[in-house]
Amino acid sequence: MERILGPRKRIALVAHDHKKEELLHWTMTNKDKLVPHTLFATGTTGTILEQALQLPIQKLLSGPLGGDQQIGAMIAEDKLDILIFFWDPMEAQPHDPDVKALLRLSATYNLPVACNAATADFMFAAPFMTQEYTAVQTDYSTYLKRHLLST
Ligand code: PGA
Repeated sequence: MERILGPRKRIALVAHDHKKEELLHWTMTNKDKLVPHTLFATGTTGTILEQALQLPIQKLLSGPLGGDQQIGAMIAEDKLDILIFFWDPMEAQPHDPDVKALLRLSATYNLPVACNAATADFMFAAPFMTQEYTAVQTDYSTYLKRHLLST
């Protein structure tokens, strides 16, 4: 089982409030590397980045209002290739279950995730960013066919 990530990646950008400045700086520095791809973002992050970068970004709801879950649904439905998620390790979030769910779904579907600038740098330096990449998928068929009823 596999997912094919095309040369033009579908990338979601998310940053918690105290990390928005850092993500803004990273995206400004790497704007030319973002241009060839399709960009999504949670509401507030997207508004800030769109204004600064002058690039089209498809904005979802604000993270705590469901935006993280919308991105999670995109991952589950194979509508996203990469997640750049600068989450804040120093502040509890009201939507912590959503944050956790997003990271969990990324692991479930072997989706590349960068949670800090260094990882994003490594990721965007990889030739796979502009080439096709095959992401091997865990076979969940045994789980799906598990026996649940006694009859
Ligand atoms: P925001 O959401 O971009 O709407 O602030 C980010 C988050 O998930 O906290």
